Amino acid sequence: MDNNHLFQYITSGQLMKFYKSKEWKALRVEALERDNYECQMCKENGKYHKAECVHHIKEVKPYPHLAMTLSNLKSLCNPCHNKVHDRIGIHLQEQGKKFVNEERW
Ligand SMILES: [Zn+2]
Ligand SMILES: [Zn+2]
Repeated sequence: MDNNHLFQYITSGQLMKFYKSKEWKALRVEALERDNYECQMCKENGKYHKAECVHHIKEVKPYPHLAMTLSNLKSLCNPCHNKVHDRIGIHLQEQGKKFVNEERW
């Protein structure tokens, strides 16, 4: 399979085109099926949550050649995905530092 056009979407900053491609959508489903549609981070913590998204372990932008590699994908629920990207931490930092320490574990 030739994914050269996908590689180019990423390197030229057109990530939305990458995420809308049929190749990515097919691979995403493959990753979800591999992970039984289960959030892998919740699973590691002994909990169950339905997977809501597929995360790139090595991020797409610095590692475009791993964007279509199944072993680089991890099914996650949205709260875990936010944690991985530290979005919650950033959000709390805006509100004041004391919340950050309480949220970290
Ligand atoms: Zn989770
Ligand atoms: Zn992600």
